Amino acid sequence: MALYVYKFGGTSVGTAERIKSVAEKVKKAHDTGDQIVVVVSAMSGETNRLVALAKEMQTQPSDRELDVLLSTGEQVTIALLAMALHNLGCEACSYTGSQVKILTDSSYTKARIREIDDAKIRNALNQGKVVVVAGFQGVDEVGNITTLGRGGSDTTAVALAAALKADECHIYTDVDGVYTTDPRVEPKARRLDKITFEEMLEMASLGSKVLQIRSVEFAGKYNVALRVLSSFTEGNGTLITYEDSDMETALISGIAFNRDEAKLTITGVPDLPGIAHKILGPIADANIEVDMIVQNIAEDATTDFTFTVHRNDYLRARDILEQTRQDLGARKLTGDDAIVKVSIVGVGMRSHAGIASTMFKALASEGINIRMISTSEIKISVVVDEKYLELAVRSLHSAFGLEA
Ligand code: ADP
Ligand code: ASP
Ligand code: MG
Repeated sequence: MALYVYKFGGTSVGTAERIKSVAEKVKKAHDTGDQIVVVVSAMSGETNRLVALAKEMQTQPSDRELDVLLSTGEQVTIALLAMALHNLGCEACSYTGSQVKILTDSSYTKARIREIDDAKIRNALNQGKVVVVAGFQGVDEVGNITTLGRGGSDTTAVALAAALKADECHIYTDVDGVYTTDPRVEPKARRLDKITFEEMLEMASLGSKVLQIRSVEFAGKYNVALRVLSSFTEGNGTLITYEDSDMETALISGIAFNRDEAKLTITGVPDLPGIAHKILGPIADANIEVDMIVQNIAEDATTDFTFTVHRNDYLRARDILEQTRQDLGARKLTGDDAIVKVSIVGVGMRSHAGIASTMFKALASEGINIRMISTSEIKISVVVDEKYLELAVRSLHSAFGLEA
């Protein structure tokens, strides 16, 4: 007898009919004698609908109240799925995050899981029941409802799989695995049979939203066998795994992109110790995350400084930076929120030279201007104008021979 944690995303539970077919799939697995814990997301569009409703009440709603609101989406789905299972004659019991309980810190809207109490779930499993758990939500030490950030149901599933020492964690979604890039942007993208945790982590942090970053971190840390599969078609999907010697090491495993980018440049700043801190300190104090940072070599004792932030933080960051510019007597402040980041990822990069030049050549041949570059051991990212996103992804996909 094996124990599986299955997670079904928003599209997979998007209508009453789809919830019924999830119930059938779960029942079939349960009938073979395996123990099944199911984590579900809110029905597709529901979390966005709730966010929009909140914004009608207040432009910047309180994070605590947002979490109270957003957690309702998943509560609807767990109850409906339990009912659909009952209707098939399958014993099932639903739990919210706080009922389980999934204990988190108190960082509303981006809470981190601290501990999972598995007693109730084990008990129900031992009674032969399917256990249905609300994704994306938890509870803090004093009983406040928290949520884990967008896409957080993936993390609920992996954390439960780790806590229960499940045999495998299956993430069922609307694609049949992890692809070389988002198949919505490059229809020639190819499904990968396997991808390493390290590569998946980079892909997720660089914008591939097929798995929430934290779910991959968790899976790597607690050695959870993690697989991404389709809710709608049969197949083995993609296994996220440790690097092993017989894995064919492709140079590049995938291409990720992020549309949520904006950049800010301050020019003519004095080239003195402490300047980077004076520029970025107030940004950090405002709780704005900075991604890429570039500083030029000084000329005439002044230098230029550019960094990127999430597009939602662009206007706030620009206002803060304008104040800094005045304080420092810097020459000019410019910014652009119509940029995107495109990245190539692959562990094969470690042992091969010339990857960057292949990347830059491919972009140049399409006339795409690179605005910023950043590299790490297994990835190279470039910032380009938003209008080039699709072209950049497709030309890189072909330059590295990733097509099906
Ligand atoms: P769910 O609602 O099931 O959690 P998501 O929308 O969060 O589904 O994730 C699935 C989507 O991720 C796919 O529809 C696809 O467009 C997108 N995606 C982005 N990058 C990739 C990739 N490299 N491989 C597969 N899907 C990707
Ligand atoms: N419903 C939440 C969201 O839309 C969590 C999830 O689906 O994973 O982000
Ligand atoms: Mg998701």
